Amino acid sequence: MSQTLIEMKNVSFQYEYTQVLKNISFKVDEGAFLAILGPNGSGKSTLLKLLLGLLKPMTGEIQLFGQPIDAFRQREWIGYVSQKSNAFNSGFPATVEEVVKSGLTKKVGLFKRMPKDVDLKVEEALKSVGMEAFRSRNIGQLSGGQQQRVFIARALISNPKILILDEPTVGIDHENVQSFYDMLATLNEEQNKTIILVTHDVDTVSNRISHVACLNQTIHFHGYKEDFDTISQNQLDNWYGHAVRKIH
Ligand code: ADP
Repeated sequence: MSQTLIEMKNVSFQYEYTQVLKNISFKVDEGAFLAILGPNGSGKSTLLKLLLGLLKPMTGEIQLFGQPIDAFRQREWIGYVSQKSNAFNSGFPATVEEVVKSGLTKKVGLFKRMPKDVDLKVEEALKSVGMEAFRSRNIGQLSGGQQQRVFIARALISNPKILILDEPTVGIDHENVQSFYDMLATLNEEQNKTIILVTHDVDTVSNRISHVACLNQTIHFHGYKEDFDTISQNQLDNWYGHAVRKIH
């Protein structure tokens, strides 16, 4: 049986007077490729911040790799790519290689040396996302989708077990979304990365994912993609008030 990597038990959270998350309970097992689906304002970013330890729940419990989140020390096991990472303009003065390496600098500390095999690590991380030919290019000159791949390489360089991606297909041309998902599926299947991505767009929930969680203040559904496919539009409207459309 696969290990449970993330578990939330009855987690609730509010910002001052706004209740954002109510009684959230769910588990993510090793090897899952989970899409957390919800419209703007449904609490997706707040949920991620709780998982990353940036916010603390008012009630309930969060466990990472079987440990209470406060006791969990292996931060490098969780790679996070935020939504704003790819907002570089064409003038940003950093090469792809520098951006990918910076994923290690953060982990080893500013005054410690890079590991000896850093060049190889950069190479491997870029290969994993199909960007090895862009190593010397300026990050600002790449397309939104290419930048997003570089930021995933930056997260991969410390060899995390889980990748958490916040709206990764925002800024990617429609025709490139499928190949982006194919790349994530390869990371999931061949490198055994457990992947959690949040999205507000049901259309981007491709055939590559294994699980879906429907979030709007609480978890309305969490299960296999095949079971999500049987949920009617009427049911989604009840949860989301017409904000999420299924396209078949
Ligand atoms: P999503 O990522 O799904 O768009 P968020 O988690 O960002 O949703 O926000 C959920 C709700 O919490 C929204 O109503 C938002 O206005 C509110 N909210 C988010 N951040 C804060 C904050 N720092 N202070 C107060 N309210 C916030």
